[in-house]
Amino acid sequence: MDKTLGQQMLFGGDYNPEQWPENSWESDIQLLQQAHINSATINVFSWALLEPAEGQFDFTKLKKIIKLLTKYNFKIVLATATAALPAWLVRQYPAVGRVNPNGIQQQHGKRHNACPNNPDFQRLASQLVTQLAERFANLPNLAYWHISNEYGGLCYCDNCAQAFRDWLQVRYGDIDTLNSAWNSHFWSHTYTDWIDILPPMRTTDLFSNGKPVLGGAALDYQRFQSDSLLANYTMERDIIRQFDATTPMTTNLMGSQKDLDYFKWAPEMDIISWDNYPATTLRLVIRPCNTI
Ligand SMILES: [Zn+2]
Repeated sequence: MDKTLGQQMLFGGDYNPEQWPENSWESDIQLLQQAHINSATINVFSWALLEPAEGQFDFTKLKKIIKLLTKYNFKIVLATATAALPAWLVRQYPAVGRVNPNGIQQQHGKRHNACPNNPDFQRLASQLVTQLAERFANLPNLAYWHISNEYGGLCYCDNCAQAFRDWLQVRYGDIDTLNSAWNSHFWSHTYTDWIDILPPMRTTDLFSNGKPVLGGAALDYQRFQSDSLLANYTMERDIIRQFDATTPMTTNLMGSQKDLDYFKWAPEMDIISWDNYPATTLRLVIRPCNTI
């Protein structure tokens, strides 16, 4: 596991120079080096540059960035770039976008919004990760693989609805056991066929304030979505392992993210990473004791 690190402490963070002109890259890296920064997490959101059209890959910029960082002795944490979708991908496969609790489907935009159970997303993400692992698994200064980015969120699409029913059948075995676990005789929710089970969303079983009618159903839906995203993580991890037997792999966790069961995720990761978001809007008010 310790193929490149030795006793060196890594000090650095996300670095995405492909998002600005190249003429400042080298001078920027020199400044970073002067600040004793010695590692960079790169390629976090580059899918559209790496694959400008389906099946057409271009690693030119990524190779330039790696070459420059290597010149200045940086360790590299290489991300898999699957956390933000290219526009062409959503245009060609619109069902890749998540459906929100109001039943509205996400179009191209923002990030972290691919449906984890969409087969086209899984196929295309796998292809990209395979291309990356083939090319970069043997980088001598590769310290870690960073898989996707800040997993979280829920999808309520038809693919997820069917995958949820499959997940529930494994969990409960028969529908009477599910009815008992969910206390679903409440308000005539008794289920007699798996096909009647729908994701708890505003058009089904969530109130306008976001509270569910059946708490057990909503909790199971979160567990199911956490498992779905974890399957995305292990899918990428297992592809990389085919090309790179030793470099540790991680993804960045965030506090106690409610969407995900981090205790189930941790055993699948070589190391735990944590994104720290300091609450910069909090103000500490100090009063003299005699005014209290
Ligand atoms: Zn979905």
